[in-house]
Parts: sequence; C-alpha cells; structure tokens
Amino acid sequence: MASCMYTVFMLVGLVSVPQVIGGIGFFWHVADLHYDPNVFPDTQQKPYGDYVNDSPWSLVNSSLHAMKQIEPNADFILWTGDTGPHRKNSVENTISIIHDVTNLFIEVFPNTVVYAAFGNHDYSPPDQFPPHENNIYYAAANMWQRWYRDSTAKKTLLKGYCIYMLRRAIESLTQKIFLL
Ligand SMILES: [Zn+2]
Repeated sequence: MASCMYTVFMLVGLVSVPQVIGGIGFFWHVADLHYDPNVFPDTQQKPYGDYVNDSPWSLVNSSLHAMKQIEPNADFILWTGDTGPHRKNSVENTISIIHDVTNLFIEVFPNTVVYAAFGNHDYSPPDQFPPHENNIYYAAANMWQRWYRDSTAKKTLLKGYCIYMLRRAIESLTQKIFLL
C-alpha cells in the first residue's frame, strides 16, 4: 500500500486493501462515535440509545465488540475521531471521553495498532483547534503513545494533526498515514 490519505464518513467500516507482498489485508475504520456520558438509554425500549441523541456508552461498547466479533485480526484500526458529543463540552470532559474510549480500544483490541486522530468535536470549544500544544493534544498524545511506531506521531499530535509510520512490507518503501 502506498502513501494514502483517507476521508471517510461512516461510523464503522471494514476495508480490505491489497498488500504490497501477497494476500489481502484488512483494517477497520471507526469515526463519529460521538459518545456522550450524559446520555442514559432506556434499557428496556432502546438499550443503545436513540437517533435524536449522541451515543450512550452501551452503543460505543457494542460497536467495538461487534468489530471484534466480525474481524478480530485486522491489520490495524483507523480511528478518525469525533469521539465526543455534538454539544459544547469542557476541556476536562473532552479528555475524559477520549480516555474512556482509548481504554476501550485497548481492552477490546489489545494487540492491534490503532492510528488515532482528532475530529472537530474532540476539542473544546468544538472546531477551534489551535496550532500549538495544549492540554487536549498533550493528553491524547500520551494516551495513544502505545500505538506509536516512532517519535513522529507524538510530535505531530502535539500540533493537532498526525503522521503515523505504517509497518513496511518492503524496506525501500516508506509508508505513512496522514490524519488531519
Ligand atoms: Zn461527527
């Protein structure tokens, strides 16, 4: 796979990609989980919430476990943000939401690399990402460091975007993934 830039608009998708050497590879793409800790679903009528609200924890949890059940051995997971709710959120709550969902990825996919990035609702206030270090970038960069292949990811995350090095199928090829 050569250098790629992805812009995808779906909640969860399984994508197959031809690898440079033999066989077929798979990766999960996850975006727009929009988890809101203040949404509590009707456990009898609508245990996974309602479309008029953002996602309760039960829906986020169910989505990741369904991914695991469908394809537990994906080569990697592309997590392109919008993890927080649509409503305005504090810096502390934004970090807490990213923390909770990061831990769920680690719990459900302990051996899978996750390439994570911010969505426009992963900052407080939404859409106002500054081009310099701040508490949210710093917290996320530390939470996601278990998935880094080199120091590039952390350096770029502290500026609000991400460049991750992919595993190299052929040493002479540089494979990067850019998440904006
Ligand atoms: Zn969204």
